[in-house]
Amino acid sequence: MNVKKDEKGFSTRCIQPNGEQVDAFGSLVPPIYMSSTFVFPSAEAGGARFAGTENGMIYSRLGNPTVEALERTVAELEGGEAGVAFGSGMGAISAVVLAMVESGDHVLCSDGLYGCTFGFLTLLKRKFQVDFSLAEMVDEAALRRAMRPQTKVVFVESPINPTMKLVDLEMVSRVAHEYGAQVVVDNTFLTPYLQRPLELGCDVVVHSATKYLGGHGDLLGGVAVGRTDFMEEMRMSTLKDLGAVMSPMDAWLILRGLKTLPLRMERHCANAERVALFLQQHPKVNKVLFPGLDDFPQQELAAKQMKGPGGMISFEVESLEAGGTVMNAVRVAKLAVSLGETTTLISHPASMTHAVIPAEVRQQEMGIADGLIRLSVGLEDAQDVIADLEQALGKL
Ligand SMILES: *Cc1c(COP(=O)(O)O)cnc(C)c1O
Repeated sequence: MNVKKDEKGFSTRCIQPNGEQVDAFGSLVPPIYMSSTFVFPSAEAGGARFAGTENGMIYSRLGNPTVEALERTVAELEGGEAGVAFGSGMGAISAVVLAMVESGDHVLCSDGLYGCTFGFLTLLKRKFQVDFSLAEMVDEAALRRAMRPQTKVVFVESPINPTMKLVDLEMVSRVAHEYGAQVVVDNTFLTPYLQRPLELGCDVVVHSATKYLGGHGDLLGGVAVGRTDFMEEMRMSTLKDLGAVMSPMDAWLILRGLKTLPLRMERHCANAERVALFLQQHPKVNKVLFPGLDDFPQQELAAKQMKGPGGMISFEVESLEAGGTVMNAVRVAKLAVSLGETTTLISHPASMTHAVIPAEVRQQEMGIADGLIRLSVGLEDAQDVIADLEQALGKL
């Protein structure tokens, strides 16, 4: 079983994870072990560590005490057996997928994906004959139609970036397992505070820890969580040999960020709710996509698998030009990609992250209108973010 139950509350475990103490001096905060390698007490001990018959550090690409403290903590928060940290979210995503597929296999994805995940799967298809396709997993029948005998991995984002559509994770894992496929969920948008895919039957959770887990916009990182055997297999192959390892300094910063994860997520959700309500009544805004609004089409599913709506909002103004005008007019919201940090960030997919995709594909297949704006609502006073958007929309 993937899921471990724990009786202590989530916030307590963010601050006092169950994992053993890292430090011999009993320091309250785990030390940062900035060491590339570790001295063996004897030749025999070195041999035993390599053989895996004795625990102990060898070399920081294979494991580091600070990084392992982070791995244990995120695994615990996601309710999984074990975790592996990477130098970025893409390091985690590429390592997980590569460890699961062989040429001839097929990866089925939700009908919207983080751009570089799409890019990585395109590379696998072009160079290594690992096929992939996107499917609108609106219901069980649609998912079954998209599954193939070669499908080994179902890769899902929920909510999907930037359309905010949700995928029923319990349904997807039930169906995928029937076909012998594994389910990987990119849980970056919600974090384990708001959604725990492993508890819904999914096999592996991946994160860009760059976003809400770190939470302060000062690092890049990734984490994968799942069953111990798969995590160890990955540690000794696609982590060790491809080498996208996390720095101990970044692991320490993420551990520090995690202590306030519940507080930050509550405030991100509350601020986003207020901003979404403001946008919803604004005459220049055609549409607001946010799981916390009354008119959100998948409210029932949101209530079933999410503890809150998250801090991400997409909204539409009338055109590409109007999107650009808003981008140039904001002052409190910063014009930048990325998300999940203290500062409110605003971006315009049609002219930025998704500009390389042909307009027709972008609009029709991915549902990204030219005037769609993506907002990562930060931790400022909500009224300041609202006032900023009001003056920016006033330029239209
Ligand atoms: C940012 C992001 C990634 C990639 O993470 P990096 O840390 O930038 O490599 C993957 N998935 C989602 C949903 C993201 O937002």
